[in-house]
Amino acid sequence: MNAEILAVGTELLMGQIANTNAQYISKKLNDIGVNVYYHSVVGDNPIRLKDSLLAALKRSDLVVMTGGLGPTQDDITKETVSEVLGKKLVLHEESLERIKTFFNRINRKMTDNNVKQAYLPEGCIVVENNNGTAPGCIVENNGKIVVMLPGPPPEMIPMLDDTVIPYLREKSEYRIVSKYLRVFGIGESQLEELIMDLIDKQERVTIATYAKDGQVTVRLTAKSKKEDEGLCEILPLQNEIASRLKDALYSTENEELEFVASKMLLDNNITIATAESCTGGLISTRLTDIPGISKVFKRGIISYSNESKIENLGVRPETLERYGAVSSQTAIEMAEGVKKIASTDIGIAVTGIAGPDGGTDEKPVGLIYIALAHNSGTETRELRLTGNRIRIRNMTSLNAFDMIRKYVMKMKG
Ligand code: ATP
Ligand code: MG
Repeated sequence: MNAEILAVGTELLMGQIANTNAQYISKKLNDIGVNVYYHSVVGDNPIRLKDSLLAALKRSDLVVMTGGLGPTQDDITKETVSEVLGKKLVLHEESLERIKTFFNRINRKMTDNNVKQAYLPEGCIVVENNNGTAPGCIVENNGKIVVMLPGPPPEMIPMLDDTVIPYLREKSEYRIVSKYLRVFGIGESQLEELIMDLIDKQERVTIATYAKDGQVTVRLTAKSKKEDEGLCEILPLQNEIASRLKDALYSTENEELEFVASKMLLDNNITIATAESCTGGLISTRLTDIPGISKVFKRGIISYSNESKIENLGVRPETLERYGAVSSQTAIEMAEGVKKIASTDIGIAVTGIAGPDGGTDEKPVGLIYIALAHNSGTETRELRLTGNRIRIRNMTSLNAFDMIRKYVMKMKG
């Protein structure tokens, strides 16, 4: 199905407002496999509107119009469409009732010209408006579809999302399916380099990469008649990319890293305890986001002061004195300490400087140590992160979960 969007309103032509409706509608149509080939804008002028509509109907199966459904004289969309399609405007009682109720609700008197808004082309599908007075409508005529929606985005958007898109999805012969491959430990540019040849020759399955909060996602999208056909088309490419990303790929189902790692602990019945300094409980919070985690998550200690590290985790005062609280030695003792106290299979600990203050030349803001103690030893990771406190804490937590995930993978062989 080919579509175009026709926005009505002199304001748009005069540059007083931007045509954000066209952008929003295009995106939504693309999502359901409808091709959008034209955007046009026409003023509140019946002759030019008629011309534009005739041109649109000649070249497109679907015309989505916005604006000009209001109660005033210059709102001419319905009148013009009806004339072009040769349909009468008839009173839609239900809409009239809704308009009356709407005015009651906002405690304003309904004026006579609001009745005009309840007149709709005969035989149309009415699109209810719960945020304003003008109903929208869908008119089918000679194999073409014309959709009319009000101009204000707060009214147009829910009407499009709730009624028009579900209706069109049924009509669209295509389905759009996407797979999201989630990656940690490889930057966006490095990732792009790894799969550049595939991006260059992408054809029926499109590839897009994007980065957010230290994680990268590869989106693979196919357009096909049936959903499972699309997934089949994606699969070979997905496998090829997976083989290149190796263990940096942690989910093909668009899951969060914390979720994947926690799930692995649960599935393998590996018990865990946490000792957190600079993340202040973030790792524990993310663990406890997972329902059922109590089966494996035994204890979480937030250990901010040196005293607490000594008293609650058994870190040796000599270690703190010699290497400082932010050191791999301290991280190791924190992880081993919490593992021992909680009698768990693994203990994970973090210590670092989240900023913005507290950094020195030797130990700058963003210096983080993570330690993971398990039954055959303790692994550490040193991070030198940039960004603000929120980012530093988030990246620290992600790295901790990455270590957990890699540990479980290695342990399982
Ligand atoms: P109303 O009943 O409010 O008059 P309407 O359907 O007649 O609604 P218009 O009068 O054309 O719509 O526009 C009303 C308001 O909606 C505009 O002032 C503008 O804020 C917004 N609007 C209209 N068209 C668009 C558009 N294409 N993109 C973004 N906003 C728009
Ligand atoms: Mg108007």
